[in-house]
Amino acid sequence: MPYYAKVTCPACGRPFQTPVEQILDVRVDPKAKQRMLSGFVNVAMCSACGAGGSLNLPFIYHDPEKEAALLYLPLEAGKSEAERQKAAGVLVRQLMDSLPSEERKGYLLQQETFINMETMVHRVLELDGVTEQDLEHRRKQQEFLQELLETAPDAREQLLAENGDLVDETLFGALQYNLHIISTAGPQAEEEFKKYQETHEYLLEHHPVGQMLSRRAQAVQIFAEEPNRRTLLQALLEAPDEATVDMLVHSGLSLMDYAFFQELLQKIEQAGDEEEKARLLDLRQRILDLREEIMKRSEALAQERLNLLQRMTLSEEPLKLARSHFSELDDAFSYVLSARMQQAHEDDDEQTFQALSRVREIVNQLLEESMPPEVVLVRHLLMETSAEQVDQQLQENRELLQKPFFDFLFALEEDSRQNGRADLAERLQELRLKAQNYAPQPADGGRGGPPPAVAAPGERRSPSGLIISTKK
Ligand SMILES: [Zn+2]
Repeated sequence: MPYYAKVTCPACGRPFQTPVEQILDVRVDPKAKQRMLSGFVNVAMCSACGAGGSLNLPFIYHDPEKEAALLYLPLEAGKSEAERQKAAGVLVRQLMDSLPSEERKGYLLQQETFINMETMVHRVLELDGVTEQDLEHRRKQQEFLQELLETAPDAREQLLAENGDLVDETLFGALQYNLHIISTAGPQAEEEFKKYQETHEYLLEHHPVGQMLSRRAQAVQIFAEEPNRRTLLQALLEAPDEATVDMLVHSGLSLMDYAFFQELLQKIEQAGDEEEKARLLDLRQRILDLREEIMKRSEALAQERLNLLQRMTLSEEPLKLARSHFSELDDAFSYVLSARMQQAHEDDDEQTFQALSRVREIVNQLLEESMPPEVVLVRHLLMETSAEQVDQQLQENRELLQKPFFDFLFALEEDSRQNGRADLAERLQELRLKAQNYAPQPADGGRGGPPPAVAAPGERRSPSGLIISTKK
């Protein structure tokens, strides 16, 4: 959990608040690793003038899977060695306290300490199996990219011809990441953004890897724009390389039924020549292999989640355990939990059912901590079983019954209807109509109030927006 620190802008002198991270746990938040590697940990930016930079505050990087605890302790962390050690102690204590006792292991007390961010980044990459050679290659890539960014357009060709072997998908990934970061920096970075964009386009057009990536984007787009069995097959036939096939198989798994393979077989029979036929047969085999691989992996994942679930039912500190495994409380976990509860219910195993219910409560609590309050309220309303309880919830949360709440409710309703959950859509509509009675009168003359009501079945809407009941 980050805390907020008061900072004064070095450029314009304005005070502002900025989040400070002290524990970066990659199991709680897998994105923390990328933030750390790209130097975006504890970076502040003034909202008034855009000036900013690193706060250079100490933090701990924790990767439980690799049993690694890395402590960033810059010289600025304290005036004396004793002060710095004290700051370190506070962080280690905080990390220990965040974990359930069964996960407080020895390596946490033998953290590696870094006073320099570059060496720490180096260590994190090393833990990932990135070698010295890889790093050298990346350095050269970065140098080349910088040179290309600064080069005049007519000198690009020469530079690319000399360094073409440095261009790979990683380089494109880095370029895109930078483009994304710069695009969020606002108008003062427009010039910089244009430079990156032009270089990106140049490489896409003039380097074989770029050309392949363009074709990949085209193939994936065919399917993404209108995901169905036909577009999936078409995209797979046009996939320029194996990685594209992999991506498509992963996202189109549920569409690969008997009819899909029949159509593929038909394409193979209709192939113009032997070479094309062999290519399609290879493609078919690749798809079948990938499918099997994915199924095996999802079985292994279900087993992992089941292990976590069992540990949670046995733990003395299930909340801490759940919190430190937050990223693992995913769809696979929910699925395993529901299946187990169903089983316990069928077996009349009241004790197991109760234990699993406690786990479910903990998971719900953690999920809600990361949700906006409107979403939490809708969840609670849907869980209530009696009309009186719904009324009470609405009464107690009147201040939340504003536009964001009604927007969310309405979107959910539409979504349920489209996904064939008519029963849920109807309940949501009922809730929405009821909630409108509790909504505080909008103080701004109607703006920000509930969205226009939508006609229910048996009602129709007049051109002026009035709802007319056609029920007899
Ligand atoms: Zn400022």
